[in-house]
Amino acid sequence: MADTGNHTAEIRLTGIPVSPGVVHGPLMVLTSEELLIPKNKIEPDAVPAEIARLEAALMKTRQEIVAIKENLAVAIGEKDAAIFDAHLLVLDDSTLLDAVRKQIEGRNLCVEVVFHHLMQNYAQSMRQVDDAYLRERATDILDVGRRVLNNLLGNSSSDKYNLEQPSIILAHDLSPSDTAMLDRTKVLGFVTDIGSRTSHTAIMARSLGIPAVVGLKDASHKLGRGLHVVLDGHEGILIVNPDAQTMLRYGRLEHKRHEVDVQLEQLRGTEAVTKDGRKIVLSANMELPEDFPLIKAHGAEGVGLYRTEFLFLQRPALPTEQEQIEIYRKIIAASAPHPVIFRTLDIGGDKMLDHLGLVEEVNPFLGWRAIRYTLERRDIFRTQLRAICRAGEGSKVRIMFPMVSAVEELRQARDLLDEALAELRRDGLGYAADIEIGTMIETPAAALITDRLAKEVQFFSIGTNDLIQYTIAVDRMNAKVAYLYQPTHPSIISLIGHTVKNAHAAGIWVGVCGEMAGELLLVPLLVGLGIDELSMGPKFLPRAKAAIQRLSYAELQQQVAEWQTLGTAGEIMDRLKQVAREKFAELLD
Ligand code: PEP
Ligand code: MG
Repeated sequence: MADTGNHTAEIRLTGIPVSPGVVHGPLMVLTSEELLIPKNKIEPDAVPAEIARLEAALMKTRQEIVAIKENLAVAIGEKDAAIFDAHLLVLDDSTLLDAVRKQIEGRNLCVEVVFHHLMQNYAQSMRQVDDAYLRERATDILDVGRRVLNNLLGNSSSDKYNLEQPSIILAHDLSPSDTAMLDRTKVLGFVTDIGSRTSHTAIMARSLGIPAVVGLKDASHKLGRGLHVVLDGHEGILIVNPDAQTMLRYGRLEHKRHEVDVQLEQLRGTEAVTKDGRKIVLSANMELPEDFPLIKAHGAEGVGLYRTEFLFLQRPALPTEQEQIEIYRKIIAASAPHPVIFRTLDIGGDKMLDHLGLVEEVNPFLGWRAIRYTLERRDIFRTQLRAICRAGEGSKVRIMFPMVSAVEELRQARDLLDEALAELRRDGLGYAADIEIGTMIETPAAALITDRLAKEVQFFSIGTNDLIQYTIAVDRMNAKVAYLYQPTHPSIISLIGHTVKNAHAAGIWVGVCGEMAGELLLVPLLVGLGIDELSMGPKFLPRAKAAIQRLSYAELQQQVAEWQTLGTAGEIMDRLKQVAREKFAELLD
């Protein structure tokens, strides 16, 4: 990486492009969760000063938490905001504070190292108690401890969610919940040291149409807040201190892209039908309520994947049935007259939540995730199913289950849904009269038994993000092995083809809702394989529609059959690039 010292020469850092678009503005560096704790010895006469520093940091932390609590109370209600009372209690814990005082005095160590050590021990012992409530307090302790340490160290992470001005966010990593909490009217773009195309932060950035680049290695340690940068989400470049020539070049490129966007506006009201008459349904992927207006803005025919877990990630406690009903009604209204596919809670993997009782696992993507979690936490699952069905009263509702790997899982989920419906009937509550059940196909096991699964459901939706990860055994979050993450790997094409064949043989439709659907280069492949629906970040819909209108299904079917005989992902990709250049070159920029 180039030297990023204190000068104004232009510097280019290259990472992985995960969400297209170009923006420029000031950099806002979010402090890493891994704090650098100084291990300084102090002189005995400095002890009172250290204790005074701790008291000041505690007071500041208290003020911050009270402010956050008040803000949240306005945004999400008093009840959920009360979770921060537990954080305030930690600050008032006199045993802990006495212990800090004693250790500073006894060991002559600076307050940061003592405080950090004690908080870790305290949290650790809390994790081992039998009482589930007390065990959960361990997270509160660590959270508050981090805030206090940030204040001791003079870091700004405690107010990291409040951006003063529109900025490009740079962080070591951004969790999906960090992203959900940011004030997105002020986020121009995201840049992170680690991550990959299908990490959920990247997916959210794409859905929101916010340019993003990941995998910039140690940029968050090298670059400072306030630097002027250009973020190129097409090429995956971050340019620090851009010179006049760079600004001009980007200005021209943006102008060209804008012109294509304006032309694509003319396709509004038309459908994605190939030249020989095959219609592909184009729908939107949705995560957050703020984005629901994008469904119509980009001409989606409904929502093909509503990742309901983001509703859970956005708040510090479980949403109640009534709260869920209200949000689900909003998305149904925003998508009407087209239906919404509600994907039930897909938690685990990189989507961790303190209040869902998830435990750290060695292999979280292979562990207690998605349907495996909800089939055990039936209370949470039942509430969600009731909320979806109740919200859908008077309309058609589609529900699908994530990470299914066996027929039994679908049957158990179905039974629980039937129980929930029976309860609603018994209680005289209204619910959707027309409910379609589908399953995601995102494990190789599911893809290989699609003949059996097709008998249980009314549709399939292929989650290629996970399907690629599990088939190629390549961690979707790991930038180091991102080169292996190949959507055109012959195994992936074969599993998608197999799924389509089994779906159509059983008379059900099949969509793709993974990120492959929104990759313009891959659209001809998916159409040629016989996919019926493509669901993607709304911003990508107009280009996908324009491309489909220029393709011939019959021709593609023949080409796909030929590509399937090729040996490597690279060879297949080359063929796809050729098709794209011939059929829709100007959409590619
Ligand atoms: C997928 O795996 O392709 C998918 C759509 O689900 P998620 O990205 O939320 O895991
Ligand atoms: Mg998935």
